[in-house]
Amino acid sequence: MREAVTVRDMLRLEERLRDAGLAVTRDESLAKRTTFRIGGPADWFAVATSVAQLEAAAEAAAESDLPLTVLGGGSNVLVSDAGIRGLVVANQTRWHGPAAEWTGAPHALLREEQWVAESGVPLAGLARATIRAGRGGLEWAVSVPGTVAGAVIGNAGAHSSDTAANLAWALVWWPGEGRDVLSGADLRYVYRGSLLKERLLEGRDARPVVLAAGFDLPPADVAELTAKADEYLARRRATQPVEPSAGSIFRNPPGHFAGKLIEELGLKGQRIGGAQFSPRHANFIVNTGDGSAADVVALINLARARVWKSYGLVLIPEILFAGEWAAAPLLPL
Ligand SMILES: Cc1cc2nc3c(=O)[nH]c(=O)nc-3n(C[C@H](O)[C@H](O)[C@H](O)COP(=O)(O)OP(=O)(O)OC[C@H]3O[C@@H](n4cnc5c(N)ncnc54)[C@H](O)[C@@H]3O)c2cc1C
Repeated sequence: MREAVTVRDMLRLEERLRDAGLAVTRDESLAKRTTFRIGGPADWFAVATSVAQLEAAAEAAAESDLPLTVLGGGSNVLVSDAGIRGLVVANQTRWHGPAAEWTGAPHALLREEQWVAESGVPLAGLARATIRAGRGGLEWAVSVPGTVAGAVIGNAGAHSSDTAANLAWALVWWPGEGRDVLSGADLRYVYRGSLLKERLLEGRDARPVVLAAGFDLPPADVAELTAKADEYLARRRATQPVEPSAGSIFRNPPGHFAGKLIEELGLKGQRIGGAQFSPRHANFIVNTGDGSAADVVALINLARARVWKSYGLVLIPEILFAGEWAAAPLLPL
């Protein structure tokens, strides 16, 4: 078990972060950093705007033996009402472009024709920019919130494609080991999952950090790519709720749609406190204004119990739980 963090550890952490150019704040509310608009405070909070800063923050947290949580768009995470202990770093690294212009260290999987993005680049913006540059493959992503790292970790996908389809490599910092470059095969992609997501789900304090990624995006016709992306976006706008949420709350069980199961059980529109199964799309839980993480968890457990009882199917959350919980968020079935 981790020994208590001393005042000296804390001061050293703050000093290391300041040396790396990161401003540190205490007790920063995370509600405004998540698309759910839910979440208690972070003990320490900093914003990283370069890969060097992100890596320095990870090293400083490891040296001080403090848990590190990196937040991208906060669009696939439920932060507990008690907040996150240790250091939270908001990833606002923003560079992306052709591999030839990347200033990071060359490695065995880097190819000149690839497109490279730092891990904090918003995925939808990356998709639009690569379409404009006449590179195909990320059209599905124009409507998906969050960052490149979030997509690399969770194998984000939509419209019958996903991150794994075009990812060439990911540059990852591992606690105690430093940098490594992983191929798509190394990342062991499955539907909405990867080796990295498994590591995050293990809940250890020492977590890998995604720094950058390279994509294989073959040349394609800009007008065709744009038309496809616009159609996806329109379809999305017509079917998804606009209230704060974290997107689909459950993975679809093989051969089923989680939303359909929830709807069949009469839970569409069901509220607990300020959280509700969206009347528009039953696999979305929305924050109706004053929703708490406890409200969201209560709805998750309600749906899991009902679906298990009626269909014998296990609903697995697509979102990740972050922060300090009085008890494990998922009740046993
Ligand atoms: C309205 C809406 C629609 C959505 N539609 C889709 C969809 O169509 N398809 C889909 O797949 N998803 C969808 N999502 C979910 C979400 O957009 C994706 O899962 C996205 O990839 C998450 O990225 P993020 O940067 O927001 O991750 P975050 O929520 O910030 O983080 C997710 C997890 O990864 C960790 N993490 C983040 N960055 C790093 C890093 N650099 N290094 C290490 N760990 C890190 C976090 O600590 C957390 O555990 C939707 C969400 C919303 C709100």
